[in-house]
Amino acid sequence: MSTSSWELSPDLVSGLAEGIGFAQWLGDRVPVASYARISRSRPGAVGRQHLNNAAEAERLGWAVVCLYTDDGVSAADPEVPRPAFERMVRDLLPGRTREGIPIGGVIAVEEERLARTAADYTCLLRALSAMQSGCLYLVDTAELVDIPMTLQSLEKGVKPRGQVEVERMGQRRRRSIRDRAGEGRQSGGQRRFGWLGPDASECRPTNTILDAFESLYLREAVERALAGATWMSIADWLTAENVPTVRGGKWTIPTVQAMLTNPAICGYRVLDGVLVRNAATGEPVVGEWQPVASAEEWSTLVSRCDRWYSPDGDRRGYKDGRASRSRGSAPAPGRSGRAADSDSSRKYLLSGFLRCGYAGANAVCGTKMGGHPAHGTNRHASYRCSSSGCRKVGRRADMLDQYVEAIVRKRMDLTLERWQALDVKTKREVIASLIDEIVVRPIPKGRPRNAPFDPGLIEVIPKPTTTVGDSH
Ligand SMILES: [Zn+2]
Repeated sequence: MSTSSWELSPDLVSGLAEGIGFAQWLGDRVPVASYARISRSRPGAVGRQHLNNAAEAERLGWAVVCLYTDDGVSAADPEVPRPAFERMVRDLLPGRTREGIPIGGVIAVEEERLARTAADYTCLLRALSAMQSGCLYLVDTAELVDIPMTLQSLEKGVKPRGQVEVERMGQRRRRSIRDRAGEGRQSGGQRRFGWLGPDASECRPTNTILDAFESLYLREAVERALAGATWMSIADWLTAENVPTVRGGKWTIPTVQAMLTNPAICGYRVLDGVLVRNAATGEPVVGEWQPVASAEEWSTLVSRCDRWYSPDGDRRGYKDGRASRSRGSAPAPGRSGRAADSDSSRKYLLSGFLRCGYAGANAVCGTKMGGHPAHGTNRHASYRCSSSGCRKVGRRADMLDQYVEAIVRKRMDLTLERWQALDVKTKREVIASLIDEIVVRPIPKGRPRNAPFDPGLIEVIPKPTTTVGDSH
Protein backbone atom coordinates (compact mmCIF):
# COMPACT_ATOMS: atom_id res chain seq x y z
CA MET A 1 0.00 0.00 0.00
CA SER A 2 1.66 3.21 -1.09
CA THR A 3 0.62 6.82 -0.92
CA SER A 4 2.35 9.83 -2.35
CA SER A 5 1.60 13.41 -1.50
CA TRP A 6 2.90 16.93 -1.84
CA GLU A 7 1.63 19.77 0.26
CA LEU A 8 2.69 23.13 1.65
CA SER A 9 4.34 22.88 5.06
CA PRO A 10 1.86 23.15 7.96
CA ASP A 11 3.87 26.02 9.40
CA LEU A 12 3.58 28.00 6.17
CA VAL A 13 -0.12 27.18 5.84
CA SER A 14 -0.85 28.41 9.35
CA GLY A 15 1.23 31.53 8.74
CA LEU A 16 -0.71 32.32 5.58
CA ALA A 17 -4.01 31.57 7.38
CA GLU A 18 -3.08 34.15 10.00
CA GLY A 19 -2.74 36.69 7.24
CA ILE A 20 1.06 36.85 7.26
CA GLY A 21 2.34 37.36 3.73
CA PHE A 22 4.74 34.78 2.30
CA ALA A 23 7.68 37.21 2.21
CA GLN A 24 7.13 38.10 5.85
CA TRP A 25 6.77 34.46 6.86
CA LEU A 26 9.94 33.52 5.02
CA GLY A 27 11.99 36.42 6.31
CA ASP A 28 15.65 35.93 5.51
CA ARG A 29 15.44 32.17 5.21
CA VAL A 30 16.03 30.07 2.08
CA PRO A 31 12.84 28.30 0.94
CA VAL A 32 13.41 24.56 0.45
CA ALA A 33 11.48 21.37 -0.23
CA SER A 34 11.55 18.52 2.30
CA TYR A 35 11.53 15.03 0.77
CA ALA A 36 10.68 11.85 2.69
CA ARG A 37 10.38 8.28 1.51
CA ILE A 38 9.99 4.93 3.19
CA SER A 39 9.87 1.50 1.55
CA ARG A 40 7.33 -0.16 3.82
CA SER A 41 4.77 2.16 5.31
CA ARG A 42 4.93 2.50 9.11
CA PRO A 43 2.90 4.98 11.15
CA GLY A 44 4.76 8.21 11.70
CA ALA A 45 7.91 7.23 9.84
CA VAL A 46 7.76 9.71 6.97
CA GLY A 47 6.51 12.36 9.39
CA ARG A 48 9.66 11.90 11.44
CA GLN A 49 11.85 12.31 8.35
CA HIS A 50 10.06 15.58 7.64
CA LEU A 51 10.51 16.72 11.27
CA ASN A 52 14.24 16.01 11.07
CA ASN A 53 14.46 17.88 7.81
CA ALA A 54 12.55 20.86 9.21
CA ALA A 55 14.73 21.00 12.34
CA GLU A 56 17.92 20.89 10.31
CA ALA A 57 16.56 23.42 7.81
CA GLU A 58 15.91 25.78 10.68
CA ARG A 59 19.48 25.44 11.96
CA LEU A 60 20.76 26.24 8.50
CA GLY A 61 18.58 29.32 8.24
CA TRP A 62 16.38 27.59 5.67
CA ALA A 63 12.60 27.18 5.76
CA VAL A 64 10.70 24.13 4.54
CA VAL A 65 7.90 25.39 2.32
CA CYS A 66 6.68 22.14 0.82
CA LEU A 67 6.61 18.48 1.88
CA TYR A 68 6.99 15.78 -0.77
CA THR A 69 6.25 12.29 0.51
CA ASP A 70 6.49 8.84 -1.06
CA ASP A 71 5.17 6.54 1.65
CA GLY A 72 5.49 2.81 1.11
CA VAL A 73 7.44 3.14 -2.14
CA SER A 74 10.10 0.47 -2.38
CA ALA A 75 13.72 1.15 -3.19
CA ALA A 76 14.19 -2.35 -4.51
CA ASP A 77 12.39 -1.88 -7.81
CA PRO A 78 13.46 1.23 -9.71
CA GLU A 79 10.54 0.67 -12.07
CA VAL A 80 8.03 1.53 -9.34
CA PRO A 81 7.19 5.19 -9.85
CA ARG A 82 7.68 7.73 -7.11
CA PRO A 83 5.02 10.34 -7.86
CA ALA A 84 6.13 12.78 -5.17
CA PHE A 85 9.80 12.64 -6.23
CA GLU A 86 8.81 13.24 -9.84
CA ARG A 87 6.50 16.06 -8.81
CA MET A 88 9.32 17.67 -6.81
CA VAL A 89 11.73 17.56 -9.75
CA ARG A 90 9.01 19.11 -11.97
CA ASP A 91 8.48 21.90 -9.40
CA LEU A 92 12.22 22.53 -9.12
CA LEU A 93 12.58 23.24 -12.83
CA PRO A 94 10.60 26.53 -12.64
CA GLY A 95 11.74 26.90 -8.99
CA ARG A 96 8.21 27.11 -7.56
CA THR A 97 5.29 24.97 -6.48
CA ARG A 98 1.96 24.90 -8.28
CA GLU A 99 0.77 27.46 -5.73
CA GLY A 100 3.59 29.76 -6.83
CA ILE A 101 5.66 29.34 -3.66
CA PRO A 102 9.39 29.59 -4.51
CA ILE A 103 11.72 26.64 -3.80
CA GLY A 104 15.47 27.14 -3.77
CA GLY A 105 16.64 23.69 -2.73
CA VAL A 106 15.95 20.31 -1.21
CA ILE A 107 16.59 18.80 2.19
CA ALA A 108 16.39 15.06 2.81
CA VAL A 109 17.57 12.72 5.53
CA GLU A 110 20.03 10.82 3.35
CA GLU A 111 20.92 10.03 -0.21
CA GLU A 112 19.28 6.60 -0.09
CA ARG A 113 15.91 8.16 0.71
CA LEU A 114 16.29 10.48 -2.21
CA ALA A 115 17.73 8.56 -5.11
CA ARG A 116 17.31 4.93 -6.04
CA THR A 117 19.14 5.10 -9.35
CA ALA A 118 21.79 7.24 -10.95
CA ALA A 119 19.19 8.48 -13.44
CA ASP A 120 16.92 9.67 -10.60
CA TYR A 121 19.72 11.46 -8.85
CA THR A 122 21.05 13.01 -12.03
CA CYS A 123 17.58 14.34 -12.83
CA LEU A 124 17.29 15.98 -9.43
CA LEU A 125 20.80 17.46 -9.48
CA ARG A 126 20.29 18.83 -13.00
CA ALA A 127 17.09 20.56 -11.86
CA LEU A 128 18.96 22.07 -8.90
CA SER A 129 21.97 23.11 -10.94
CA ALA A 130 19.72 24.97 -13.38
CA MET A 131 18.72 27.33 -10.55
CA GLN A 132 20.56 30.46 -9.50
CA SER A 133 21.79 28.86 -6.27
CA GLY A 134 20.00 25.55 -5.91
CA CYS A 135 21.17 23.62 -2.89
CA LEU A 136 20.83 20.09 -1.53
CA TYR A 137 21.44 19.14 2.08
CA LEU A 138 21.56 15.62 3.55
CA VAL A 139 20.78 15.61 7.25
CA ASP A 140 22.40 12.36 8.40
CA THR A 141 25.79 13.18 6.94
CA ALA A 142 25.47 16.94 7.60
CA GLU A 143 26.43 17.32 3.97
CA LEU A 144 25.82 20.24 1.69
CA VAL A 145 26.09 18.36 -1.59
CA ASP A 146 28.55 19.71 -4.13
CA ILE A 147 26.10 19.54 -7.03
CA PRO A 148 28.46 20.09 -9.99
CA MET A 149 30.99 17.61 -8.65
CA THR A 150 28.40 14.96 -7.84
CA LEU A 151 26.85 15.35 -11.29
CA GLN A 152 30.25 14.80 -12.81
CA SER A 153 30.90 11.61 -10.86
CA LEU A 154 27.45 10.32 -11.85
CA GLU A 155 28.30 11.00 -15.47
CA LYS A 156 31.46 8.97 -14.96
CA GLY A 157 29.30 6.06 -13.82
CA VAL A 158 29.74 6.25 -10.06
CA LYS A 159 26.62 4.77 -8.49
CA PRO A 160 24.71 6.79 -5.91
CA ARG A 161 24.64 5.26 -2.45
CA GLY A 162 20.96 4.36 -2.79
CA GLN A 163 21.62 2.18 -5.79
CA VAL A 164 24.29 0.08 -4.15
CA GLU A 165 21.84 -0.46 -1.29
CA VAL A 166 24.20 0.28 1.55
CA GLU A 167 21.93 -0.34 4.49
CA ARG A 168 22.94 1.87 7.35
CA MET A 169 20.41 0.34 9.71
CA GLY A 170 22.28 1.25 12.87
CA GLN A 171 22.22 4.90 11.98
CA ARG A 172 18.54 4.79 11.06
CA ARG A 173 17.64 3.07 14.30
CA ARG A 174 19.54 5.59 16.41
CA ARG A 175 17.83 8.44 14.62
CA SER A 176 14.45 6.87 15.18
CA ILE A 177 15.07 6.58 18.94
CA ARG A 178 16.18 10.18 19.10
CA ASP A 179 13.05 11.22 17.20
CA ARG A 180 10.71 9.49 19.60
CA ALA A 181 12.38 11.18 22.55
CA GLY A 182 12.03 14.42 20.67
CA GLU A 183 8.34 13.93 20.03
CA GLY A 184 7.58 14.16 23.75
CA ARG A 185 9.17 17.58 23.84
CA GLN A 186 7.47 20.86 23.18
CA SER A 187 8.73 22.28 19.90
CA GLY A 188 10.70 25.47 20.49
CA GLY A 189 9.30 27.24 17.46
CA GLN A 190 11.94 29.00 15.42
CA ARG A 191 14.21 30.18 18.17
CA ARG A 192 17.67 31.35 17.13
CA PHE A 193 20.74 30.29 19.10
CA GLY A 194 21.62 33.13 21.47
CA TRP A 195 18.11 34.46 22.09
CA LEU A 196 15.31 33.40 24.44
CA GLY A 197 12.18 31.70 23.21
CA PRO A 198 8.72 33.26 23.58
CA ASP A 199 7.25 34.06 26.98
CA ALA A 200 3.45 34.10 26.89
CA SER A 201 3.05 35.58 30.39
CA GLU A 202 5.02 38.66 29.34
CA CYS A 203 3.71 38.63 25.76
CA ARG A 204 7.34 38.47 24.73
CA PRO A 205 7.91 37.14 21.22
CA THR A 206 10.76 34.76 20.45
CA ASN A 207 14.25 36.02 19.53
CA THR A 208 14.07 39.44 21.18
CA ILE A 209 15.96 39.06 24.48
CA LEU A 210 19.44 37.53 24.63
CA ASP A 211 19.87 34.28 26.50
CA ALA A 212 22.52 34.89 29.17
CA PHE A 213 24.33 31.59 28.58
CA GLU A 214 24.06 31.16 24.83
CA SER A 215 24.73 34.77 23.94
CA LEU A 216 28.17 34.57 25.60
CA TYR A 217 29.07 31.72 23.29
CA LEU A 218 27.50 33.45 20.30
CA ARG A 219 29.55 36.59 21.01
CA GLU A 220 32.76 34.63 21.47
CA ALA A 221 32.06 32.73 18.24
CA VAL A 222 31.69 36.10 16.46
CA GLU A 223 35.01 37.23 17.91
CA ARG A 224 36.77 34.03 16.96
CA ALA A 225 35.47 34.28 13.41
CA LEU A 226 36.51 37.92 13.17
CA ALA A 227 39.98 36.93 14.39
CA GLY A 228 40.21 34.48 11.50
CA ALA A 229 39.30 31.16 13.16
CA THR A 230 37.95 28.62 10.68
CA TRP A 231 34.26 27.70 10.75
CA MET A 232 35.32 24.16 11.53
CA SER A 233 37.39 25.20 14.55
CA ILE A 234 34.44 27.18 15.92
CA ALA A 235 32.18 24.16 15.48
CA ASP A 236 34.78 21.99 17.23
CA TRP A 237 35.11 24.49 20.07
CA LEU A 238 31.33 24.64 20.67
CA THR A 239 31.21 20.84 20.58
CA ALA A 240 34.11 20.58 23.06
CA GLU A 241 32.37 23.05 25.38
CA ASN A 242 29.26 20.85 25.27
CA VAL A 243 27.13 23.79 24.21
CA PRO A 244 23.82 22.36 22.94
CA THR A 245 22.45 23.59 19.63
CA VAL A 246 18.87 24.84 19.58
CA ARG A 247 17.61 21.46 18.40
CA GLY A 248 20.19 19.32 20.13
CA GLY A 249 21.94 18.41 16.87
CA LYS A 250 25.62 18.60 15.98
CA TRP A 251 27.61 21.75 15.42
CA THR A 252 28.63 21.68 11.79
CA ILE A 253 30.29 24.11 9.40
CA PRO A 254 26.93 25.11 7.84
CA THR A 255 25.36 25.62 11.29
CA VAL A 256 28.19 27.90 12.38
CA GLN A 257 28.28 29.78 9.08
CA ALA A 258 24.53 30.35 9.10
CA MET A 259 24.58 31.43 12.74
CA LEU A 260 27.46 33.90 12.39
CA THR A 261 26.41 35.45 9.10
CA ASN A 262 22.74 35.81 10.06
CA PRO A 263 21.93 39.55 9.79
CA ALA A 264 19.94 39.19 13.02
CA ILE A 265 23.23 39.25 14.99
CA CYS A 266 23.42 43.01 14.33
CA GLY A 267 19.67 43.65 14.27
CA TYR A 268 19.36 43.60 10.49
CA ARG A 269 16.92 41.57 8.49
CA VAL A 270 17.08 40.11 4.99
CA LEU A 271 13.81 39.67 3.08
CA ASP A 272 13.72 37.79 -0.21
CA GLY A 273 17.50 37.83 -0.14
CA VAL A 274 17.76 41.63 0.12
CA LEU A 275 18.61 43.70 3.19
CA VAL A 276 15.51 45.54 4.46
CA ARG A 277 16.17 49.29 4.22
CA ASN A 278 14.28 52.40 5.17
CA ALA A 279 12.61 53.62 1.99
CA ALA A 280 13.36 57.27 2.77
CA THR A 281 16.94 57.10 4.07
CA GLY A 282 18.17 53.93 2.41
CA GLU A 283 19.67 52.88 5.74
CA PRO A 284 19.17 49.28 6.85
CA VAL A 285 16.23 48.89 9.23
CA VAL A 286 17.35 47.87 12.72
CA GLY A 287 15.01 45.38 14.41
CA GLU A 288 13.71 45.57 17.95
CA TRP A 289 15.80 42.81 19.41
CA GLN A 290 19.08 42.79 21.30
CA PRO A 291 22.02 42.44 18.90
CA VAL A 292 25.32 40.70 19.68
CA ALA A 293 27.45 42.32 17.01
CA SER A 294 27.86 45.59 15.16
CA ALA A 295 26.81 46.08 11.54
CA GLU A 296 30.51 46.33 10.55
CA GLU A 297 31.25 43.04 12.23
CA TRP A 298 28.35 41.37 10.45
CA SER A 299 29.44 42.64 7.06
CA THR A 300 33.00 41.42 7.73
CA LEU A 301 31.64 37.96 8.49
CA VAL A 302 29.42 37.95 5.39
CA SER A 303 32.40 38.90 3.25
CA ARG A 304 34.01 35.70 4.52
CA CYS A 305 30.98 33.59 3.68
CA ASP A 306 27.97 34.73 1.70
CA ARG A 307 26.57 31.25 1.25
CA TRP A 308 23.61 31.92 3.56
CA TYR A 309 23.10 35.66 3.63
CA SER A 310 24.22 38.57 1.56
CA PRO A 311 23.45 42.30 1.85
CA ASP A 312 22.80 42.73 -1.87
CA GLY A 313 20.76 39.60 -2.43
CA ASP A 314 23.56 37.98 -4.37
CA ARG A 315 23.70 34.81 -2.35
CA ARG A 316 26.25 32.94 -4.34
CA GLY A 317 27.00 29.83 -2.35
CA TYR A 318 29.18 27.17 -3.84
CA LYS A 319 28.00 28.14 -7.29
CA ASP A 320 30.22 31.21 -6.86
CA GLY A 321 30.87 32.97 -10.07
CA ARG A 322 28.93 30.50 -12.17
CA ALA A 323 26.73 32.13 -14.74
CA SER A 324 23.03 31.52 -14.34
CA ARG A 325 21.85 28.72 -16.55
CA SER A 326 18.39 30.13 -16.83
CA ARG A 327 17.27 29.04 -20.25
CA GLY A 328 14.80 31.88 -20.81
CA SER A 329 12.40 31.16 -23.62
CA ALA A 330 14.88 29.15 -25.66
CA PRO A 331 14.01 25.49 -26.13
CA ALA A 332 15.43 23.27 -23.44
CA PRO A 333 18.55 21.43 -24.58
CA GLY A 334 18.43 17.66 -24.37
CA ARG A 335 20.18 15.73 -21.66
CA SER A 336 23.45 15.40 -23.60
CA GLY A 337 23.35 19.10 -24.46
CA ARG A 338 23.05 20.00 -20.83
CA ALA A 339 25.82 17.60 -19.86
CA ALA A 340 28.13 19.18 -22.43
CA ASP A 341 27.13 22.63 -21.24
CA SER A 342 27.86 21.65 -17.68
CA ASP A 343 31.28 20.34 -18.59
CA SER A 344 32.37 23.20 -20.83
CA SER A 345 31.37 25.77 -18.22
CA ARG A 346 33.24 23.93 -15.49
CA LYS A 347 35.49 26.44 -13.91
CA TYR A 348 38.07 24.34 -12.12
CA LEU A 349 40.40 22.32 -14.29
CA LEU A 350 41.10 19.58 -11.76
CA SER A 351 37.79 19.18 -9.95
CA GLY A 352 36.89 15.50 -9.87
CA PHE A 353 40.54 14.40 -10.15
CA LEU A 354 41.78 15.53 -6.75
CA ARG A 355 41.62 13.44 -3.57
CA CYS A 356 42.35 14.63 -0.06
CA GLY A 357 45.55 12.96 1.21
CA TYR A 358 45.08 13.71 4.90
CA ALA A 359 46.11 10.62 6.86
CA GLY A 360 44.05 10.17 10.01
CA ALA A 361 44.52 7.53 12.70
CA ASN A 362 43.04 4.72 10.64
CA ALA A 363 42.90 5.73 7.02
CA VAL A 364 43.59 8.35 4.41
CA CYS A 365 40.65 10.74 3.94
CA GLY A 366 40.40 10.24 0.17
CA THR A 367 37.48 12.64 -0.26
CA LYS A 368 37.23 14.59 -3.50
CA MET A 369 38.48 18.15 -3.38
CA GLY A 370 36.30 20.90 -4.83
CA GLY A 371 37.25 24.28 -6.31
CA HIS A 372 36.57 27.44 -4.31
CA PRO A 373 36.89 31.00 -5.61
CA ALA A 374 39.17 33.60 -4.03
CA HIS A 375 37.21 35.16 -1.22
CA GLY A 376 37.86 37.39 1.76
CA THR A 377 41.17 36.52 3.33
CA ASN A 378 41.81 33.79 0.75
CA ARG A 379 43.29 35.81 -2.06
CA HIS A 380 43.62 32.86 -4.43
CA ALA A 381 41.14 30.32 -5.70
CA SER A 382 41.82 26.95 -4.12
CA TYR A 383 40.91 23.29 -4.07
CA ARG A 384 39.79 21.97 -0.71
CA CYS A 385 38.72 18.68 0.83
CA SER A 386 34.92 18.64 0.76
CA SER A 387 34.34 16.21 3.63
CA SER A 388 32.63 17.98 6.51
CA GLY A 389 34.52 15.75 8.94
CA CYS A 390 37.95 16.56 7.50
CA ARG A 391 38.54 19.68 5.39
CA LYS A 392 42.16 19.44 6.40
CA VAL A 393 43.73 19.82 2.98
CA GLY A 394 43.62 22.75 0.60
CA ARG A 395 45.92 24.00 -2.11
CA ARG A 396 46.13 27.04 -4.39
CA ALA A 397 44.26 26.20 -7.58
CA ASP A 398 46.59 28.09 -9.95
CA MET A 399 49.74 26.37 -8.63
CA LEU A 400 48.21 22.92 -8.68
CA ASP A 401 46.76 23.46 -12.16
CA GLN A 402 50.15 24.62 -13.48
CA TYR A 403 51.96 21.69 -11.98
CA VAL A 404 49.59 19.08 -13.40
CA GLU A 405 49.35 20.88 -16.74
CA ALA A 406 53.16 20.76 -17.06
CA ILE A 407 53.13 16.98 -16.49
CA VAL A 408 50.34 16.46 -19.01
CA ARG A 409 51.96 18.68 -21.64
CA LYS A 410 55.21 16.79 -21.29
CA ARG A 411 53.48 13.42 -21.60
CA MET A 412 51.51 14.61 -24.63
CA ASP A 413 54.44 16.57 -26.07
CA LEU A 414 52.36 19.74 -26.34
CA THR A 415 53.76 23.25 -26.35
CA LEU A 416 52.40 25.70 -23.80
CA GLU A 417 50.84 27.65 -26.66
CA ARG A 418 48.96 24.65 -28.05
CA TRP A 419 47.82 23.63 -24.59
CA GLN A 420 46.53 27.10 -23.80
CA ALA A 421 44.50 27.09 -27.01
CA LEU A 422 42.43 24.17 -25.75
CA ASP A 423 39.15 24.79 -23.92
CA VAL A 424 38.67 23.50 -20.40
CA LYS A 425 36.52 20.57 -21.53
CA THR A 426 39.21 19.32 -23.91
CA LYS A 427 41.94 19.86 -21.35
CA ARG A 428 39.94 17.80 -18.87
CA GLU A 429 39.51 15.03 -21.44
CA VAL A 430 43.25 14.97 -22.04
CA ILE A 431 43.91 14.85 -18.31
CA ALA A 432 41.32 12.08 -17.87
CA SER A 433 43.02 10.02 -20.57
CA LEU A 434 46.32 10.05 -18.66
CA ILE A 435 45.54 10.46 -15.00
CA ASP A 436 43.45 8.34 -12.68
CA GLU A 437 43.59 10.63 -9.70
CA ILE A 438 45.77 13.14 -7.93
CA VAL A 439 46.35 12.86 -4.18
CA VAL A 440 47.08 16.13 -2.39
CA ARG A 441 48.85 15.72 0.96
CA PRO A 442 48.53 18.23 3.78
CA ILE A 443 51.22 20.85 4.28
CA PRO A 444 53.48 19.57 7.11
CA LYS A 445 52.95 21.13 10.52
CA GLY A 446 55.04 24.19 11.18
CA ARG A 447 55.47 25.16 7.54
CA PRO A 448 54.16 28.70 6.96
CA ARG A 449 51.00 29.14 4.94
CA ASN A 450 52.80 31.20 2.32
CA ALA A 451 55.60 28.66 1.76
CA PRO A 452 56.28 27.94 -1.92
CA PHE A 453 54.20 25.30 -3.67
CA ASP A 454 55.66 21.87 -2.90
CA PRO A 455 55.32 19.29 -5.71
CA GLY A 456 56.54 16.65 -3.24
CA LEU A 457 53.11 16.76 -1.62
CA ILE A 458 51.30 15.93 -4.86
CA GLU A 459 51.00 12.35 -6.04
CA VAL A 460 49.79 11.98 -9.61
CA ILE A 461 48.42 8.49 -10.16
CA PRO A 462 48.42 7.56 -13.86
CA LYS A 463 45.71 5.52 -15.51
CA PRO A 464 46.67 1.87 -14.92
CA THR A 465 46.56 0.91 -18.60
CA THR A 466 47.85 4.11 -20.11
CA THR A 467 50.48 3.81 -22.82
CA VAL A 468 50.18 7.37 -24.10
CA GLY A 469 53.52 9.06 -24.06
CA ASP A 470 55.56 5.85 -23.78
CA SER A 471 56.48 6.09 -27.43
CA HIS A 472 58.05 9.51 -26.98
ZN1 LIG B 1 39.95 15.29 3.73
